[in-house]
Amino acid sequence: MVNAGYVGRFAPSPTGRLHMGSMLSAVASWCDARHAGGTWYVRMEDLDPPREVAGAAGDILETLEAFGLQWDGPVMYQSKRHEAYAEALAQLLEQGRAYGCACTRKLLEGAAVYPGYCRSGLGAGQVPRSYRHAMASETYGWDDAVQGNQAFDAKDLGDFVIKRADGHWAYQLAVVVDDVAQGINAVVRGADLLDSTPRQIALRHALAPDAPAVSWSHLPILVNADGQKLSKQTLAAPVEADEAPAILVTCLSLLGQPCAREEGVLDMAKSGDVTGILAVAARGWELGRVPAAPIHWQGSGQGPGKKRPSDD
Ligand SMILES: [Zn+2]
Repeated sequence: MVNAGYVGRFAPSPTGRLHMGSMLSAVASWCDARHAGGTWYVRMEDLDPPREVAGAAGDILETLEAFGLQWDGPVMYQSKRHEAYAEALAQLLEQGRAYGCACTRKLLEGAAVYPGYCRSGLGAGQVPRSYRHAMASETYGWDDAVQGNQAFDAKDLGDFVIKRADGHWAYQLAVVVDDVAQGINAVVRGADLLDSTPRQIALRHALAPDAPAVSWSHLPILVNADGQKLSKQTLAAPVEADEAPAILVTCLSLLGQPCAREEGVLDMAKSGDVTGILAVAARGWELGRVPAAPIHWQGSGQGPGKKRPSDD
């Protein structure tokens, strides 16, 4: 199926090196885009300086290159997009779809969903600390290519933050503004972001109602023996460029792709031919074969035992 109109992306945060979980998203989104004959962008979500690690953005790009995951066009850096986010906030405020919130963290303690205290305006002498998106009273649903039908009620999500009290732009706003700007119409990413999707759909409706619809695919998350999501916090080991061919085959296997067992592909892994492996993977790629449930991952070198100097 050639769909030259397909525009996908991989959007890592430079908070550390890529680990198996993030590599799975990179491989799946790349294969899905290349199978469709579409475009695949890389966007660096470098909006949160306190969480970022110096050199991580460059390291991520080098890793993608070593794995043969070549992207199209220039890399977009969210840190250079403040003007676009400010414009979006101004637009939402003007439409009545955003409002300033004066609530402190302490006031909201224990509330699973924002209770809407500031929705009808701030009291005398109050100043906004953050800004929130005013959700419409709707259900947000989509047919996820991996996870099946999804539906979220706006009142269970609440009015979420789009500009943080510390002055930083919130992830949800930045993602939607950038997805619209880049013409993204296919998102393949981890299921840990499943409950971000209704928020992003809501923002997309408000900011760009005429933008093309997005096809959403949420990949299974990788969990450790304790059932925790693989992340930097759970000491997931970074993927190493010199193991790229074997790691690619592992990713394809975890993603349910039969090519991971093909003799030709295994030969390419032995000879280090990442381009060859990816070409076969993209040709035969089937999103419908990707499993939905979390995958227990006990990959080699996982855990604090294999700490590298660069992790310090
Ligand atoms: Zn408030």
